[in-house]
Formats: sequence, C-alpha cells, structure tokens
Amino acid sequence: MKTKTHMIVPVFIPHLGCPYRCVFCNQTDITGQQGRADEKKLQETLATYLDDKPLDQLPPHREVAFYGGSFTGLPAGRQENLLKQVQPWVKKGLVNAIRLSTHPLFIDAERLELLKKYGVSTVELGIQSTDPNVLELSGRPCSWEVMENAVDLIRKNGFRLGLQLMPGLPGDSDQTFAKSVDDVLSWKPDFVRLYPTLVVRHTELFEMYQGGKYTPWSLERTVDNLKTAVLKFRAENIPVIRLGLHPDPSLLENFVAGPYHPSLRYLVDCRIGLDEMIENIRDQKILNGNIYFKVPSNRISVYIGHKRENIQTLKTLFGFENVTLKPETNCDRLQLTA
Ligand code: SF4
Repeated sequence: MKTKTHMIVPVFIPHLGCPYRCVFCNQTDITGQQGRADEKKLQETLATYLDDKPLDQLPPHREVAFYGGSFTGLPAGRQENLLKQVQPWVKKGLVNAIRLSTHPLFIDAERLELLKKYGVSTVELGIQSTDPNVLELSGRPCSWEVMENAVDLIRKNGFRLGLQLMPGLPGDSDQTFAKSVDDVLSWKPDFVRLYPTLVVRHTELFEMYQGGKYTPWSLERTVDNLKTAVLKFRAENIPVIRLGLHPDPSLLENFVAGPYHPSLRYLVDCRIGLDEMIENIRDQKILNGNIYFKVPSNRISVYIGHKRENIQTLKTLFGFENVTLKPETNCDRLQLTA
C-alpha cells in the first residue's frame, strides 16, 4: 500500500483581506466555508488534523495551507495573529511548513518579511491570466510589472513559488491562454495550478452568463488547451499540482455552467495518451489492420481513454479493426509492437 507522505491542513479565509471582487469569485461558495477563519476555528482545524495522533502515525510532511482570499491583503496584525496561532504546532514538530495564496498586488518586501518571520515557506500567486484585456474583463486589472515584481520578490526572499492560471475567463482565447502559459513558464515557478473558469451562483460571472455576456469554454476545448499547457510545463519539469477545482459539495451545489469534470486530470492525461498513440502510428505509417501497443502497466487507463474513447478514436481515424494494448511492468513508454 502506498504510504501518504504529505498532509495538508487546510485553513479557509474566504474573502478576508480582499478588496476586489473578481467576476468569477465567490470564495465562500468555492471554498465551502462560511464566516471568518478566526483563531478558535484555526485551533480547532489544527487539532482535528494533528492532535492525539502519535508523530510516527502522521505523514512525514505536514503543511498548513491558508486557502481562499488574499492572505497578504489582510491587515498586518491579523496576518500575524493567524500565523502566531500555528507556531505552537511548529514548535511541537507537528507542522513543518506553511503555505498561502494571495494576489500579486499584495506582495512587497515588508509583507514578505512578516511571512518569513513566521516560517511561511510557499507563496502562491493567483495570476489567472497575463492578458490585460482578460484581466480587465474579469474584474481584476493587474499590470505585467506588478505580477513580475511580485514573482521576483517572492523568489529573492527564498520562498517556493506557486502560480495559478484560469483558462476560459471573459475575453480569453486559445491564443491568450497559450501566451499566459508561456509567461508563467518564463517565471519558472516551482509548481502551477490550473483552474478552468466555471460559472458559480452568487458571482458577477453568473449574471454575465445569464445576460448572454459570457459563454464558458466547452469541456472539449478546455481539455485541449490544458493538454498543451500540461505538456509545456512537463517539458520544463514544472509540476501541475492541480487541474480543476475540488468537487466540494458547496461548489457542486452552486455550479451552473462550464467545463467541470470530477476527473479533469484523467481526461487531460487520456488526451495526451491519444496524441502519443497517433504520433506513433503516423511515424510508422500503419494505416489499416490490427495494431498492438506495449504500454506501461501503471498508465494503461490513460491510453484506453475515458469510456474507451481513445480506442474508438483510433479505429475511426485509421480504420483499425482491433487496437490492442499490452500492459508491461518494465516498459517506461508507449511502444508500437508486432
Ligand atoms: S482577488 Fe482572489 S479573493 Fe479577491 S475577489 Fe479575486 S479571486 Fe476572490
């Protein structure tokens, strides 16, 4: 059985500290949390995850993550208060890292100094898009200089850097999303998260959608764009640690439209698998009959595809009667075989 190596203790701070209202955002619904992350609640969360468990029964890496809102946009006193609450757990050796997410506008030397003082190790920036028009239409105007400056400061101060993008925002296109991906790549983050834009109740985007002023991307288009993005990040060894929002009950309750799928990463991996098979076939100029592939046994499902779609696509595209995949444990990549 695979042992869990990493535990996240999630602390939600919906809208706290954020003077903006991005059109897509209702942090309360998306994070499934109501009210403020006060000290009591924070202590309860920490206790639920970490108390009463012997250290040797916990995963070796235990990280407190402040999600939602813009942490560094909180008044300094409140940031300090929240971070102070975690310190006893750090001293006991139960927490060994702290991460948070914020908006590039709320990054400066003073704020980062405070985070360093309390042992924050990772800062995630919600970039969402680098296209000025998309950002403007999405209610979160932010200049390139501000984003770049925030990235530089985070790096210079020795934090791990995470960047988030949201394909399919108002005004976004395949081209502008591809450009955002290239821009993010140029900043060499330690990891990225990609959250396709969804229409959720109680947001301005919902009103735009109802008024015919916003059309979400289809799942097909989203998977296509994500596939290209994932391959680019993979080529630069930048992990995509999240694709799509967690299927939180509150999100599902408020979800109205857009490219939501509970297994989005799997769909993207299947698309990558399909492309690999097509490339192999084209390279070998095999155009009919039966075809056999050797595939790594731990990846067979991404080659078969969701509901066997990849097999069906190959039959339709090339006229094969049978497409056979042979799983092999000592095979590290797809191979055409006799
Ligand atoms: S900056 Fe973040 S928390 Fe604030 S409205 Fe936008 S998405 Fe929501």
